[in-house]
Amino acid sequence: MLDCAASMTARILDGKSLAAATRTALKQKVDALVQRGVRPGLTVIIAGDNPASKVYVRNKTLAAEETGVRSRLLEFGKEVSETELMQTVAALNADPAVHGILVQLPLPRHIDAARVLESIAPAKDVDGFHEANLGALMAGRPGVVPCTPLGCMRLIEHAGVQIAGRHAVVVGRSNIVGKPLAHLLLQKDATVTICHSKSADLGGICKSADILVAAVGRAKLVGAGMVKPGACVIDVGINRLPEGKLAGDVDFDAVKDVAGWITPVPGGVGPMTIAMLLENCIRAASKE
Ligand code: NAP
Repeated sequence: MLDCAASMTARILDGKSLAAATRTALKQKVDALVQRGVRPGLTVIIAGDNPASKVYVRNKTLAAEETGVRSRLLEFGKEVSETELMQTVAALNADPAVHGILVQLPLPRHIDAARVLESIAPAKDVDGFHEANLGALMAGRPGVVPCTPLGCMRLIEHAGVQIAGRHAVVVGRSNIVGKPLAHLLLQKDATVTICHSKSADLGGICKSADILVAAVGRAKLVGAGMVKPGACVIDVGINRLPEGKLAGDVDFDAVKDVAGWITPVPGGVGPMTIAMLLENCIRAASKE
């Protein structure tokens, strides 16, 4: 039996309120660190004029300030050189007041984003995108875990959904969401299937999931017919509809009548991603 199989309408997994509660708890940790003389510091680098990136960065720095994390934003024009970005990262790596470095993606096309990300000291890589951190996750060793997958796990755990022994299906295999999330679910003893654009019978596989995560970037890809009654559905997708509204990868209105749990978009995974970024930064500062 699934946790909510008898229910006709899914319970909403409210990421906004869980993130707010998480930030309150984190603020207490920051206060304790400040008492020890350590103020966690986060530096965000942004290059170019992508409007969505500017909104994300602003939300991150505002949440950092609210939690007591000192945040600094370094803005570069779209003509910035890779060398200049790498030199900036090198200086931040050496700065003891900086515990977390975040390079907002996407970077301008002439820059090799992977090279820039790999130049961040793994201990300060609060996004968890460095190969050393991704490798540690795969090997089950301590490291920095990417924020969005970590936020998804917190939402599933907060719902009280059993993970061990259940079938978890992750749609999407990016290095920043799908693959790390699949490893986190595996670590919690789920039986994990990863789907992608070449997967045959996507609907059938999704329908066998007790925990279904959509991290694709295709509005409303997951319909009610792809969801097992009572399943826990986590929607990572953020898509802009032609009329301007945001939509997830899950058809929320249809799936909420089938699922046991569902995250809304907006107000689900997004706020948890930012809370986990702060948690990673505060943890890095705690190691001083
Ligand atoms: P990505 O790098 O573009 O990866 C998308 C994945 O979806 C790929 O693995 C792709 O398969 C797969 N895919 C594409 N079309 C598919 C289809 N029709 N059926 C099955 N799989 C398909 O995207 P991402 O960076 O992981 O992000 C995914 C979504 O999450 C985006 O909407 C993004 O905006 C959102 N996001 C949200 C947050 C948040 O905080 N809420 C954070 C990060 C990302 P292939 O590998 O075969 O191409």
